[in-house]
Amino acid sequence: MRGGIHPTSGEDKEVTKEKPIRNFVPDEVKMEGNFFVKKGESVKKGEKIGTDFWKIPLHASITGTVREVDETWCMITGKKEDIDKEKKSFPYQEKLIQEISESAEEIIGKIKEAGIVGMGGAGFPTYFKYETKKEITYLLINAAECEPFLTCDERLMIENGYAVLNGILALKKAADAKKAILCIEDNKREAAQFLQELLNPGQELQKENGKKENQDDREIQILLLPTRYPQGGERQLIQTVLKKEVPIGGLPADVGVIVSNVATAKAAADAVFADQPLTERIVTVTGAVEDPGNYLVPIGTPIEMLLELSGGVCEKENKIILGGPMTGKCVAENWNGETLPTVKKTTSGVIAMLFQKEKETPCIRCGACIRACPAGLAPFQIDIAYLDEDEKLCEMLYASECIACGCCSYVCPAKRELTHRIVKAREIVRQKRKERSEKK
Ligand code: SF4
Ligand code: SF4
Repeated sequence: MRGGIHPTSGEDKEVTKEKPIRNFVPDEVKMEGNFFVKKGESVKKGEKIGTDFWKIPLHASITGTVREVDETWCMITGKKEDIDKEKKSFPYQEKLIQEISESAEEIIGKIKEAGIVGMGGAGFPTYFKYETKKEITYLLINAAECEPFLTCDERLMIENGYAVLNGILALKKAADAKKAILCIEDNKREAAQFLQELLNPGQELQKENGKKENQDDREIQILLLPTRYPQGGERQLIQTVLKKEVPIGGLPADVGVIVSNVATAKAAADAVFADQPLTERIVTVTGAVEDPGNYLVPIGTPIEMLLELSGGVCEKENKIILGGPMTGKCVAENWNGETLPTVKKTTSGVIAMLFQKEKETPCIRCGACIRACPAGLAPFQIDIAYLDEDEKLCEMLYASECIACGCCSYVCPAKRELTHRIVKAREIVRQKRKERSEKK
């Protein structure tokens, strides 16, 4: 992988990685999307109640009654006695499936009906990637979890090992890929070793050697990668593991690859082997909270409840981030109990950070941002072009290729708000391109 950084030495993950996942079901959830259920209607967990922005199904995440419903959200109040009955276990959670009876089309159909999206952050419908007409050689399962603080994928692998591996087998069949590679950074060696034992007892873990494309011929290969942020980006993972470049404006399928997150693979297993839609996810709640941990919660769980469960925020001058600290979204500054958004299918973390506003100073042309940029851009030049409102130059400098990783801002000694402005430049360039292609 080109560029990249080591934002921390890993101590931030240590506080939650050893702690078992805790289950939590709130009395009420608020889900976002377009809904066809009516106020007062009874709904069962897993029942289709609407569609999301991409028009894929949304399912009730708890059993209960629709308390309020609007154009873009729906609140369901749950019945405690029903909630407690709902946990079942299935064979795919306890052993490797020898043969998958569903065809590739049936698997893709189940993934679509289950409302599965990329759970690593982007939220793009999963079925869409697998409907490609391109020939797929490699399925890369992204378990890099390269953002600091987050450990939800690591706990998922340790506590749901067979479901993860069976989900990978299902996705491999859906993609008709020759090989699946589960990519795990070496700060999660225990999780990798654990899955290796389930898959091929006694075999040694393989490490990315940085030289040639990996030639191992196992159906699922578990590959340890050196820890480096933002290795979990699709293009970066493909560069590291396969030494291939996805063309500018292209997709991984253009080089014969599909990348899916490890939590997406687990959701695929639930859909294919148990007909269970995506109604819950694991969220890491950490940072400046009394009792950090990982929680398995229904989609629509209020974030303030998760902060409360974790003992509350212990810094007055805080900011609350949804997702990882590098790419996540700040939803509150100096939070003091106000209502926050609710958990979405893509909410991997809730992080309470110490709020520190640093003063920007002029660029000293040190070049650190260029060396750190994994997309091979010149961030300080795009920053100048954006501030000059020079859209043409932003386009010539490939602002459209920014992956919003935050590496440039992180390394900048002048504390320039590079990522924030380059992402704005990216949106302007993408919009201009769209307008041009619509005129043609
Ligand atoms: S310019 Fe974009 S891709 Fe490059 S380091 Fe900055 S945020 Fe990351
Ligand atoms: S890292 Fe900051 S100071 Fe150095 S060249 Fe980039 S913008 Fe300028």
